Amino acid sequence: MNANTPFTPLTGGCRCGKVRFRLESAPIITHCCHCRDCQKRSGSAFSINVMIETDRVAIIEGEPLPVRGADGQNEVQCPDCHFRLWTYHPHFGEAIAFIGVGVLDEGERLAPEAHYFIRSKHPWIVLPPDVPAFEELGDSGKASARERIMAALAARG
Ligand SMILES: [Zn+2]
Ligand SMILES: [Zn+2]
Repeated sequence: MNANTPFTPLTGGCRCGKVRFRLESAPIITHCCHCRDCQKRSGSAFSINVMIETDRVAIIEGEPLPVRGADGQNEVQCPDCHFRLWTYHPHFGEAIAFIGVGVLDEGERLAPEAHYFIRSKHPWIVLPPDVPAFEELGDSGKASARERIMAALAARG
């Protein structure tokens, strides 16, 4: 998707359907993280998250519940089924939401634009050669992502 493509809003929600939300902008970036933490939390080989300004996430049904995670990572859950809707990364605070693509109704519309922490990537995973990949973190090269993250953090004060 390039900057001139009109964005079709993405919707998502919890397992029981009580909380529904809509992304009012295209995500800042979609990335795949192969770090040990993400492997643990997902119970799988990696996690795929979109980053988006939290104020671009419109709640269309229900009332999400902010929860202080045991691991210091705050997250937002459905108050009924306790499904994790999104998390906050300590580095970005609550200005930016990290939403798992599987939480979205059409997560398949978002392919990872960067791969992080491939030093702990499971060896069977073959990455596409045209997507930036980093041993740890790195600059995805997406200029709009840098700008939007800076702006979100500045607005936080
Ligand atoms: Zn629910
Ligand atoms: Zn990770």
